[in-house]
Amino acid sequence: MRESLRVLMIEDLEDDVVLVARALRASGFDPDIERIDTAEAMTSALGDPGWDIIIADYSLPRFSGLAALQLYQDSGIDIPFIIVSGNIGEEVAVQAMRAGAHDYVMKNNLPRLGAAVRRELHEAKVRQARREAEEENVKLYEETRRQASRLAALLEIGSDISATLDLPTVLERIATHARTLLNADDSDVYLLDPDGSTLRAIVSQGDFAEQTRAAPLQLGEGIVGSVAQSGVPEVIHDAGQDPRGVQVPGTPLESHALMCAPLVSRGQLMGVMALNRRGARGGFEQADLDFLITLARQAAVAIENARMYAAEKQRAKELRRALDQQRELDRLKDAFIQNVSHELRTPVTIIYGYADLFARGELGELRADQQQPMAIIARRAAVLSDMVSDLTIILQAQMREFRGSEVDLGQMVHIALGDFELAREEAGLTLTANVEQDLPVLTGDPDHLHRMLDNLVDNAIKFTPSGGSVEVRVGRDGDRLVLEVVDTGIGIPADQLDRVFERFYQVDGSTTRRYGGTGLGLALVWEIVLAHGGTVKLESKVDEGSTFRVILPVNG
Ligand code: ADP
Repeated sequence: MRESLRVLMIEDLEDDVVLVARALRASGFDPDIERIDTAEAMTSALGDPGWDIIIADYSLPRFSGLAALQLYQDSGIDIPFIIVSGNIGEEVAVQAMRAGAHDYVMKNNLPRLGAAVRRELHEAKVRQARREAEEENVKLYEETRRQASRLAALLEIGSDISATLDLPTVLERIATHARTLLNADDSDVYLLDPDGSTLRAIVSQGDFAEQTRAAPLQLGEGIVGSVAQSGVPEVIHDAGQDPRGVQVPGTPLESHALMCAPLVSRGQLMGVMALNRRGARGGFEQADLDFLITLARQAAVAIENARMYAAEKQRAKELRRALDQQRELDRLKDAFIQNVSHELRTPVTIIYGYADLFARGELGELRADQQQPMAIIARRAAVLSDMVSDLTIILQAQMREFRGSEVDLGQMVHIALGDFELAREEAGLTLTANVEQDLPVLTGDPDHLHRMLDNLVDNAIKFTPSGGSVEVRVGRDGDRLVLEVVDTGIGIPADQLDRVFERFYQVDGSTTRRYGGTGLGLALVWEIVLAHGGTVKLESKVDEGSTFRVILPVNG
């Protein structure tokens, strides 16, 4: 099979064309030669892109090979150009090559022509391939540059929209960035209502912003609604022609390009971003859509963050309100307890006093069947009286109403332990005091501090089985006194260590019922110590024992 070859030949002699054709055929070509011999013909022939090769006679009567070369150069096309000449000297040949010819062949050496053509065709192909590669490189470079600048823009946008947590500002910024970077006329951000079916343009920028904002869409309605429903981003080249319609009353149905991407966060549809280009701005490309999709992803996260922040803010507000309410309730409760304790104090003391006198027979001998009930009345009245006075002290301590005088804590411990001698004996325990020498006196309320100590020792004895021990230590730590009440009793479970200081809290109803008590003792200890500027720490292990450590500043 011969290789077809379209040849433009600049030649005045038809005979030479025949010779050239023969030479080419001899080299395996099937030449189709068009002969021209004027500049005009050359100019019009160059308009035809189909030539494989130009072969030009160097010297023609009306036209020359050099002039043809000039025209060829001006045209910018790149096909092999070979000079054929009857009598071309070395100098002329060099001149022709300089002027842009690819080769030259002597007319008396035409058998060389075929090989020259073949080589030049190959060279031209190589040049073409190189050009294409270069073009491809330029395109790639441009694309990379565009991607890089979009990436930079995305980073900037990312930090810009996450710099605020105010939802309207976030949305406004997203719309502005999308509009600027994607060179759009209108930029809308639709959000899905909590009803899950209505899309509202919360932000709309452009000439038709008002109409767009005023016209909510249903899911599936118009192009925007359909993108929201399908979740698939779309570029629409001519929205005016789209069968789904644009569906925003008041906006012209003229031809315009539209691009939409859904806003999705954690698989949940939140809304849609829509961008329009009107008039002769040109449509959106896939790269634009890719960019919008990335932007939409960032936007969805920013919206989600802003919403979470708003919800948290609302929650914090509600919590603050609830806390205020709780504080007010606490205040009312304390006022109520204070009033009640105040009112109960005198009658309870009187009842207890008389009951005690009766029970001890000091108001006359009771009948045998009256003695036990009266003893119960006296005992219960004593508990009630303690409770009322504990409550009163707790509230006084809370309000920092106490006397400040000098207290010798070591001496107070010795006296208290003496008071507990009977209880200790009944309980079958050892009770020891371990008081450091030369302790400083502290400033505080002696009645309250005594009460605090009584409660700790009373508990230690109460909750320690017979055979055990209770030790009360007083020492010094800098300008603080440390009082420890250590027992080898039943202990307190780790999860209740904090709770025992609450008012009326007792570890276990049934156990404490066995041990008696009101659940006010440790609350009282806590408030008294706090009122003296100190702290209480509790370490305890079930079945091993408890240590209550009270730390009091000397000049509390
Ligand atoms: P109560 O009047 O019941 O003693 P408190 O407020 O003094 O009330 O103590 C609260 C609860 O803490 C007690 O009911 C008891 O369950 C627990 N508790 C207090 N001190 C001790 C202790 N030394 N050992 C074991 N449990 C204790």
